[in-house]
Amino acid sequence: MFKAILITKDEAGYQARLQDVDDAVLPEGDVSVDVEFSTLNYKDGLAITGKSPVVRRFPLVPGIDFAGTVSESSNPAWRVGDRVILNGWGVGETHCGGLAQKARVKGEWLVALPKEFTARQAMAIGTAGYTAMLCVLALEKHGIKPADGEILVTGANGGVGSIAIALLARLGYQVVASTGRVAEAEHLKALGAAAVIDRQELSLPAKPLGKERWAGVIDTVGSHTLANACATTRHHGAVAACGLAGGMDFPSSVAPFILRGITLYGIDSVMAPLALRQQAWQRLERDLDVAKLAAITREISLSEALSVAGDLLEGRVRGRVVVDVNR
Ligand code: NDP
Repeated sequence: MFKAILITKDEAGYQARLQDVDDAVLPEGDVSVDVEFSTLNYKDGLAITGKSPVVRRFPLVPGIDFAGTVSESSNPAWRVGDRVILNGWGVGETHCGGLAQKARVKGEWLVALPKEFTARQAMAIGTAGYTAMLCVLALEKHGIKPADGEILVTGANGGVGSIAIALLARLGYQVVASTGRVAEAEHLKALGAAAVIDRQELSLPAKPLGKERWAGVIDTVGSHTLANACATTRHHGAVAACGLAGGMDFPSSVAPFILRGITLYGIDSVMAPLALRQQAWQRLERDLDVAKLAAITREISLSEALSVAGDLLEGRVRGRVVVDVNR
């Protein structure tokens, strides 16, 4: 038996509870892991509260991320005692996830714990931080250099946004942070934002084209925010879209694409190939200031994850939350 958050759906409705779970609940997999830390991402908030149909098998342990130590393995790539992390692959959605003391997964989903990070730091980064790095890699691949001009980051106080700001600033980019919490401006500047704007500037329906401003954009919000970001991106700039915190729609026009030649990159962390994941984690080791990471990280227990999930969806959480699954 081990402790886990378990989501059930039956006559009693949709419920997420902390409970002692039998090993038999764990799905098939060739590697078992003693989990040390997990984290709460936006998707985990949706899964725990049931606000969106993220969970597609019941009963299920949520948690799209975990870090821990291999306890059993029949996969030649992993041995007992290896330190590993996992992000995505449908774990926490269709396969039992990381908000538990134990997990069992396919070995090919695992990445070795990066040498520069503890298990706790890797989970402070989590899918949010790894996705922020995938966005940065997309802008770099597009050829955007710090001298090209301002980079807009939306949802700036969230997990992806905060880490994107820290990464871009470290790489020398001039970052403009868009937030609904302008009272947090000093915190965002300490992370590396050169300027902070109110997200209301981007939340009304977009015109086909606006005044050109951004060399590049990392958008975690979607909907009108993404449409406005595209409409104000400079000729041949790029937008990396990864989120839907403000809505799943994209009420835009073709104007920014055909009249300014902008490129919209879709960022998917869940099914990203192993080589891209490894590249992203290597770059996080090199480019993420762990002091800044510590400043945006809060630690909670497994039971606290149940209530903090709701806070996250309400936009009341700043930065990242790590979950110590053993307390
Ligand atoms: P967080 O909850 O940590 O942050 C989201 C932020 O978005 C909030 O802090 C808030 O920032 C802003 N926000 C919230 N609601 C609204 C709204 N109604 N309108 C405008 N802005 C809003 O989430 P994450 O950073 O972990 O994730 C951000 C998004 O990215 C989510 O939609 C998530 O599902 C997605 N995501 C996608 C991945 C992928 O693979 N494509 C991987 C990881 C995340 P502020 O207070 O500063 O305004």
